[in-house]
Amino acid sequence: MDMVLADADEAFRQEVRAFLAEKLTPQLRAAAERQAGVFADGELSRIWHRILYEQGWVAPAWPKEYGGPGWGPLQRFIFDDECNRAGTPQIPVMGLQMCGPVIMHYGSEAQKAFFLPRLLSGEHYWCQGYSEPQSGSDLASLQCRAVREGDDYVVNGSKIWTTHAQYANWMFLLVRTSTEGKPQAGISFLLTPMDVPGLSVAPIISISGEHEVNQVFFDNVRIPVANRLGEENAGWTVAKHLLEFERGAGAGSSRIRKMIGQVLAIARGEASGQGGNLWDDDADFRGRLAALEIEVAGLAYAERNAAEALSAGRGIGPTASVLKLQVSTLQQKVTELAVEALGHYALPDQRGALGYGANAAPIGPDHAATPTARYLNYRAATIYGGSYEVQHNILARLVLGL
Ligand SMILES: Cc1cc2nc3c(=O)[nH]c(=O)nc-3n(C[C@H](O)[C@H](O)[C@H](O)COP(=O)(O)OP(=O)(O)OC[C@H]3O[C@@H](n4cnc5c(N)ncnc54)[C@H](O)[C@@H]3O)c2cc1C
Repeated sequence: MDMVLADADEAFRQEVRAFLAEKLTPQLRAAAERQAGVFADGELSRIWHRILYEQGWVAPAWPKEYGGPGWGPLQRFIFDDECNRAGTPQIPVMGLQMCGPVIMHYGSEAQKAFFLPRLLSGEHYWCQGYSEPQSGSDLASLQCRAVREGDDYVVNGSKIWTTHAQYANWMFLLVRTSTEGKPQAGISFLLTPMDVPGLSVAPIISISGEHEVNQVFFDNVRIPVANRLGEENAGWTVAKHLLEFERGAGAGSSRIRKMIGQVLAIARGEASGQGGNLWDDDADFRGRLAALEIEVAGLAYAERNAAEALSAGRGIGPTASVLKLQVSTLQQKVTELAVEALGHYALPDQRGALGYGANAAPIGPDHAATPTARYLNYRAATIYGGSYEVQHNILARLVLGL
């Protein structure tokens, strides 16, 4: 969808386009295309972070006083849309989008002065320690224990599915500081460097064969009380505030549309088995891709409406859940079609051709490198960031009043 924009917004779009045309070099674009995970891997992410930082655009949602560009929601949407169309590397959201805003809101002046500039520059690379082996959707049941000893908390327990913990040098985490009262009332929000004694990271290799998530263990890890965000036992409020930033309005539709373009290219390049290519010969496939495009067009309108509502100072309420559901299910559909179009080239293990700095050629045509790994990785899209079922529960409660 090409939006009709006011003159100032259109000028802004052109400014972003010109910037991307200059800074997203063919090498960076090609490296981003070889990423199959949710976020670009550590090194690529750091390179793109640095480029955006130098431009002053790395934290689109941050206010000017903390080094952000001071953009409104519509400008942020336009920026996201243009980045997705161009195919920029995806910088992880844990630092700038999640941790930064809660430090601005709940941090002491000393915490803000220490953390925010380092977050912005990329010196600190953050991971999110919420989930535990027995606590995911029911997060308030978390058990990782923090016991106060003098000026420190002594932390014991484990966090799991921690995205990019292997690259991170800081983690924000939820710990149990009290077992009295409701489970929500005994949680605190702590910040820790990753290189402290007793903290260890074990990789979890995903179904695609890649290393994006981890289990993190805490064995008598000492975290200074000064690294607590908010009051003791008030971490649940901080945690909920942070999740609002995980599910805000973005331009997921333009990334899916780019993936549709890739499916189209594959379908035009692969044989149908009837003498021509899949695209020309298979009306059923064309119909399903067209149906997906229509759904993506609907999503694009919904995202644009959400950006405009936010620009006008209105909240988007349950729409955040609708957008999360639509983006994640359409991502899954487009990756399914890519694998189907690829046919037998979807079978080989392409790990040698994936990730930043990979130097092996894909097995088969160039377009065979990422679809299977993306298809496998995007199975998780309806789990992380609030699962499919949990989002439906939220909608049932907020919209249907059930
Ligand atoms: C790739 C990936 C990356 C992740 N990254 C991080 C990270 O960086 N940091 C972090 O803290 N966590 C991370 N997570 C964890 C993620 O937040 C949890 O997986 C998610 O919250 C679900 O929790 P769970 O895995 O314990 O599943 P469960 O909560 O046990 O859910 C199992 C199933 O039951 C369903 N279910 C649960 N409760 C209900 C209910 N009330 N009603 C109906 N159905 C229900 C769920 O939808 C799901 O289908 C990541 C997960 C994945 C897969």
